[in-house]
Amino acid sequence: MENYIGCIQLTLAIICPVCNGLIPVNGPVQRVKCLKCGTVKNLKGGDQNWKKLFYLGNPTMDLFKASQKYPKNTSGINSIKLNAMNRWPKCLKCKYKFEQKDLVFEDIKKNQLICPECKTIREIYFAPAFIKEHYKSVLYIVDGIIDKPKDKYQNIITKAEGNSPITFQCSSCGANLEVDGTQRVIQCRFCGTGNFISDKLWVNISSPIKVKTWYILFDRDKAVL
Ligand SMILES: [Zn+2]
Ligand SMILES: [Zn+2]
Ligand SMILES: [Zn+2]
Repeated sequence: MENYIGCIQLTLAIICPVCNGLIPVNGPVQRVKCLKCGTVKNLKGGDQNWKKLFYLGNPTMDLFKASQKYPKNTSGINSIKLNAMNRWPKCLKCKYKFEQKDLVFEDIKKNQLICPECKTIREIYFAPAFIKEHYKSVLYIVDGIIDKPKDKYQNIITKAEGNSPITFQCSSCGANLEVDGTQRVIQCRFCGTGNFISDKLWVNISSPIKVKTWYILFDRDKAVL
């Protein structure tokens, strides 16, 4: 029998322990950065860690075990701002509302969620292990920022001085390229190679990214207490 897959639409942010500013958590990442003071917060320890981010203020209940509608701020911890509801994403082009039957495993393996109406491709990822460790029922992430495997992009060299633009060397031809914080993949203007910005660099550059909506797909059957 096929499992019943649920989808949660959410926005998540934590309050900066240094300046009280808002730190967006726009996906299942290990580190996040304060928009105001630039402090990088590791989500492994302390009160703001992945083990706690999805609890609804009750240690026996997490986001994926709750079947009812969620209240406005669903987190019971003051420094965590979580808004969540049961809702599937819509195609950005034709507004088709995705459902369970649109999840094609062969496509997901290629990180593609394909709209059956207009064939527009959306990025989808398998949930990282450190999330599944705490929330076993979580399967996939849509629209969320994900830490990419490091070994694939290791030859990116970084340097940053004062207010000068952050540059790194193209992994293919060695040309100096600038990072402005708007795009995570920088295409080399000389050789065309797409260079993926490492987590280490990405969290350290000033970025206009605000709190964004993302989606978590989970196995409802496993989520039942
Ligand atoms: Zn701050
Ligand atoms: Zn579509
Ligand atoms: Zn190049």
